[in-house]
Amino acid sequence: MKLKIFYDQRWLQAKWLPSFLHAEAVVTYPFVLFFQKKGRVQKTTLRHEIVHIRQIRSVGFLKFTALYYFELLRGLLKYRSFERAYWDNPYEKEAYQKQGALKLTEEEKKEIGREDI
Ligand SMILES: [Zn+2]
Repeated sequence: MKLKIFYDQRWLQAKWLPSFLHAEAVVTYPFVLFFQKKGRVQKTTLRHEIVHIRQIRSVGFLKFTALYYFELLRGLLKYRSFERAYWDNPYEKEAYQKQGALKLTEEEKKEIGREDI
């Protein structure tokens, strides 16, 4: 499925949303929301979201969503802390581990709308 990318849209500028999510971007496949202008989104953030997109595409959106939230819930029950549950989520661990040096395909660069990564 083709991605639909939104950078710094007016409706995303509500300050509560990124601060509520503690995020610079959110993937709700096939939508990817970045809370900054296109040129200001850091490459690590772009690569992080691409890892999530690959995770979603490898198993399908519904299965990924179920597994992601299962892991989050497992972490919440274990740690009683959303932050610790987030950092213990294997899907986030993989994304943070790979965001530094992930090689994007030419197609992914086009999809995300940034050729400079
Ligand atoms: Zn993530």
